[in-house]
Amino acid sequence: PTDYQHASTEQWLKWDKDHIWHPYSSVLNPPAMIPVVSAKGVRLTLADGRELIDGMSSWWSAIHGYNHPVLNTAAKAQLDDMSHVMFGGLTHPAAASLGKRLVDITPAPLTRVFISDSGSVAVEVAIKMALQYWYSVGQPTKTRLLALRNGYHGDTFGAMATCDPVTGMHHLFNKVLPEHLFAEAPQTAFGEQATDADMASIKTLLQNHHHELAAVILEPVVQGAGGMRFYGGDYLKQLRALCDEFDVLLIHDEIATGFGRSGKLFACEHAGISPDIMCVGKALTGGYLSLAATLCSEKIAQGICEGEAGVFMHGPTFMGNPLACSIANASIDLLLASDWQSNIQRIEAGLNAGLAAAANLNSVAAVRCLGGIGVIEMKAPVNMASLQARFIAKGIWIRPFGKLVYTMPPYIISDADLALLCQQMVAALAAEE
Ligand code: PLP
Repeated sequence: PTDYQHASTEQWLKWDKDHIWHPYSSVLNPPAMIPVVSAKGVRLTLADGRELIDGMSSWWSAIHGYNHPVLNTAAKAQLDDMSHVMFGGLTHPAAASLGKRLVDITPAPLTRVFISDSGSVAVEVAIKMALQYWYSVGQPTKTRLLALRNGYHGDTFGAMATCDPVTGMHHLFNKVLPEHLFAEAPQTAFGEQATDADMASIKTLLQNHHHELAAVILEPVVQGAGGMRFYGGDYLKQLRALCDEFDVLLIHDEIATGFGRSGKLFACEHAGISPDIMCVGKALTGGYLSLAATLCSEKIAQGICEGEAGVFMHGPTFMGNPLACSIANASIDLLLASDWQSNIQRIEAGLNAGLAAAANLNSVAAVRCLGGIGVIEMKAPVNMASLQARFIAKGIWIRPFGKLVYTMPPYIISDADLALLCQQMVAALAAEE
């Protein structure tokens, strides 16, 4: 089956059903997959010609919408030069300029950029940086991590070990994962000062375990896949001070929040602080290709390289892929050239107005919006298949999980499409009651 472009939809859907294992799915009872054949702007086109307004930005990534002429041009130009070349011993302008761009737009003192292929790997790299740093500076007992309850950092082993071991999706692997420490997530909402109660759990863990702690890792301001919860910058500010006091590194996972989604270019700006290590991914290439990066301060980089190994021990085959780097450069330029901050405010206002009606539904526990993210939390887990079918019938693409029905549309969505997206989300939920 090579000539898929000439195969009927039924034919390639059968290949898919027979052979492909989709994320978080069973091969015994495969979910009905929705065949998508093209995408432009905020619309996905299905095999039967129907169009859906995309409310997911392909899991936070397609911030400029699909098939963007500027990103297409960047990709084509790079393709003519070189689509890939190994990064060990060789370098190229697309990666070098991406490194400079990332350092320019992230807060000081982040100066070094380690490029990788996916968000999960960027987290692995961050964890390894923290561990190798302490080993190199003569504190090899500092090997544990402190993460937040409801956190999510990816599906690879190191990353899984920092996800909530109770409510998270990886508890099956708990026995073989390193045992890290978990603090209660802050309860105060975005915009509020952190209370003593918010700080108590993490402060106690830092006090009692700092000698064995390499780093605190968390998603700043927005806890994503672990519950779509928002909390305030003040918590981050107080935590930064605690990490300094107890000599524990701070890793921010900005894989979902990076590049404007929370209303700031990076969510740590809500707190006016900088982590020691920061992970970015998802929207880095505007959703075109898999690319991520782990940034660290000069202190960490120097510490690692002055240590026993003398080098940082990591090197993915596709590290610094030129095609992905060229698109990332173009995507960042496109974002910065736009009035993205006003645009996110516009989307936040549209989400607040459009999703408010959901709060009147009996099945809804809460509605909350921040930046380009709108969340409807249900009282009970949704019937995914039934709800998804309703969304599609109403012309929108939303993928709920558990009790969470949420949207983070591409930044280019028009007011009219945003209003329609919200209206249809609420209408589908009402029809499910
Ligand atoms: N960290 C956060 C906060 C995420 O939201 C995700 C993905 O959802 C990841 C890490 C993992 O990224 P990836 O799926 O690219 O491996």
